Amino acid sequence: LGRRINAAVTDLGRAPTLDEKAFDGMLKEISNALVEADVNVKLVANLRKTIKNTVKFHELPPHANKKRLIQKAVFDALVDIVNPHQNAYQAKKGKSNVIMFVGLQGAGKTTTCTKLARWYQARGFKTCLVCADTFRAGAFDQLKQNATKAKIPYYGSLTQTDPVVVARDGVEKFKKEKFEIIIVDTSGRHHQEDALFAEMVEIQSAVQPHQTVMVLDASIGQAAEAQSRAFKETADFGAIIITKTDGAAAGGGAISAVAATHTPIVFIGTGEHLLDLEKFNPESFVSKLLGMGDMQGLVEHVQSLKLDQKETMKNVAEGKFTVRNMKEQIENISRMGPLSKLGGMVPGLSGLMQGMDDEEGGMKLKRMVFICDSMTNKELDSDGKIFVQEPTRMVRVARGSGTSVREVEELLSQQGMMAQMAKRMKGMAGAQGKGGNPM
Ligand code: GDP
Ligand code: MG
Repeated sequence: LGRRINAAVTDLGRAPTLDEKAFDGMLKEISNALVEADVNVKLVANLRKTIKNTVKFHELPPHANKKRLIQKAVFDALVDIVNPHQNAYQAKKGKSNVIMFVGLQGAGKTTTCTKLARWYQARGFKTCLVCADTFRAGAFDQLKQNATKAKIPYYGSLTQTDPVVVARDGVEKFKKEKFEIIIVDTSGRHHQEDALFAEMVEIQSAVQPHQTVMVLDASIGQAAEAQSRAFKETADFGAIIITKTDGAAAGGGAISAVAATHTPIVFIGTGEHLLDLEKFNPESFVSKLLGMGDMQGLVEHVQSLKLDQKETMKNVAEGKFTVRNMKEQIENISRMGPLSKLGGMVPGLSGLMQGMDDEEGGMKLKRMVFICDSMTNKELDSDGKIFVQEPTRMVRVARGSGTSVREVEELLSQQGMMAQMAKRMKGMAGAQGKGGNPM
């Protein structure tokens, strides 16, 4: 998605005359990309109007950085949609806060329950879990295993088949024991939705949750709108958690869900492990959706590490990005750790690191540094094309570093892309005169 949107905006920059027709064409292209990324069709139509109204094309001063203005308008409009301007329920210390999870089967409720319980536990809350899924065989076992791993007290029953009874008993017991966060996991079903909804409402009225959370799989696609609406009408949840944002899905469904229900996203699931839960941040989420990399988060993180980027920045300003610059970036990344989190943030590396866990990602980066270490200084300070002229060097470098030619090629192709980008950015800055900030 990001690539297509960026391509659309870049094409506009290249158009011989930046007229309104080119602008309309670009808006159409962006809209198509958003629909393909599962953002709701009607929502996209509105978005298009908003952007058109924000960027008043013929009123733009001749030297304005149009590309940047338009990208920012798209970004702001999307952020505005995922930001419902409403706060979710805040759990209070010293009292029993009951949180109930709802959502379809496989959405990630049971996994996320434990993640959230751990999150609260780490912040000093006395936390526990109640398993009210008596529908699926093995549901209680799954929760028990997760809870045990996280050292969180739990309640469930292997004999009681009425989920309402289990939920009520569990919540009552934990309230008496002065637990502060009581999370109730419920069952989700695919094909018996009426039964699911009836059960959900019964549990809800039995335990009177302070907060009902709907768990939504990021890959739900265009169905997100109808589904979140149906849940909202029946179980009136006050918060959304989007799971599996580490997967291949574009995540547009999340935007549709918020727009349809005016309910805030509070957390996102970023993996299968207990710690893979992050506070939701609208700006970061939209940055990733648009393929801009999580610029804000990354900039803050890099600043906090006080890395020396002067050489690389100087080169980029001159429109260059050498193999050595690539190596420096890899080394910087290696120092930033947890890689699985960082992979998606870094433009240029996100593609290489996709789907890897910390260990795999770390290995991969190490091998890339080995590759660079087997190059000569001349090669390192080149734009990488030197290897095209002398392919045998690629074989040597692969052998010298104990890697494969394919890996050397992959590294050089990534570096080549960055070099192209640096060149283009310099071109743009030149064309747009002073103040043209490349983005
Ligand atoms: P439930 O039926 O709603 O309770 O869903 P589960 O919690 O059992 O999760 C279904 C599957 O999704 C399991 O295999 C989980 O490991 C997986 N899962 C849940 N959350 C995430 C996530 O954020 N990322 C990934 N990659 N997998 C997840
Ligand atoms: Mg479950």
